[in-house]
Amino acid sequence: MVSYNIFSQMAEDPELARATGVRMRVATFFFQKPISEDPETYNKVQELKNSGVKCVRHGFELIEEELGRGAHSELKDAYQHLAPVIDTDQYMVWLTGRVVSLGAELRHAEITHRLLDIEADLLHQFKADAIVNCTGLGAMVTAADDNVYPLRGCLIRVKNDGFSMPKVTKALCVPHDDSKADMGNSEDLVFIVPRSEKVLLLGGSVEPHEWGLDLNLDNSALVRTMLDRCVNFLPALKNAELIDDFPVAVGLRPFRKGNVRLGAAGGSSNNKLSIRAGSRIVHNYGHGGSGFTLSHGCAEEVVQIVQRMLESHRDTHCDSCTQSTMLGVQVESQRYSM
Ligand SMILES: Cc1cc2nc3c(=O)[nH]c(=O)nc-3n(C[C@H](O)[C@H](O)[C@H](O)COP(=O)(O)OP(=O)(O)OC[C@H]3O[C@@H](n4cnc5c(N)ncnc54)[C@H](O)[C@@H]3O)c2cc1C
Repeated sequence: MVSYNIFSQMAEDPELARATGVRMRVATFFFQKPISEDPETYNKVQELKNSGVKCVRHGFELIEEELGRGAHSELKDAYQHLAPVIDTDQYMVWLTGRVVSLGAELRHAEITHRLLDIEADLLHQFKADAIVNCTGLGAMVTAADDNVYPLRGCLIRVKNDGFSMPKVTKALCVPHDDSKADMGNSEDLVFIVPRSEKVLLLGGSVEPHEWGLDLNLDNSALVRTMLDRCVNFLPALKNAELIDDFPVAVGLRPFRKGNVRLGAAGGSSNNKLSIRAGSRIVHNYGHGGSGFTLSHGCAEEVVQIVQRMLESHRDTHCDSCTQSTMLGVQVESQRYSM
């Protein structure tokens, strides 16, 4: 809820919403069986109702309300809520500016070794108090973590200016149905999201362990099928016009088997991977397809871990240490790869 609340506040302030590209949209999720028959989704809806997420509704009537009478007889249930939708290109530019305005100096360089092996050199070189490792898939190198792998995803980008088709203002999603054993990870997924005032995203796809980024409507059956699925779901999309200079976005979600890794490399975790007592590295990677959703909550936790780490370091080295401040924390990279 930390990120949800922060993004909601950004969207509510017209000036901040314009600058960050964050908007609140109604998002509806459709299902081919009653949600009550799927404990995982049922619990999720109950959690949403009790969480403070805005405008949560659940019911069969949402299908007709959102898609029209008689549409999609295969759909049996739906829930909806107000969700932050972020124009991530715009948001990352704003966020970078914000970090710089707070005093950060950004330097781009590739880390080619496990951070633990070069920690002392890096702390010295950058006169840093701590290192926060946010390298996503790069954690294969920076934390020697074999649990990290890519989940490739594609999105088709079409014009949403209201000319070639009626403007879509709400997000519509059919999540993957795990019970369909004959289907791959994402062959039933529908993801129709107005990302900005002019761009509508159509998707989606999930391909584990795929690294290639050269996918488009000409060379990939998966991308073409994805478009067909969206048009079949929302027939008005048959007139949709691709965005000429950037019709298909392909990205690698930095997934980590088990879970996100968030914690000090000097911590007392049972996982012995890249851990050393006294280390001043804090890992924060492996957010998969939820990096924006989890961003503010994880960042708050990182700040607390760094503060605790520096306090304990000060206690044990009080003769030699100087005052440590968060300004000394170096963020390894703010580049964005989507
Ligand atoms: C199709 C698609 C749809 C998505 N939809 C959503 C969504 O709806 N909601 C959501 O929350 N998330 C979504 N995501 C996921 C989201 O984009 C990621 O979770 C997020 O970008 C992860 O951020 P990160 O900073 O941890 O990793 P990254 O964005 O991968 O950034 C890691 C950075 O570390 C740098 N780096 C890596 N290795 C090194 C090294 N050795 N030395 C120096 N620098 C290094 C990289 O250059 C990069 O800049 C989606 C992703 C895709 C592909």
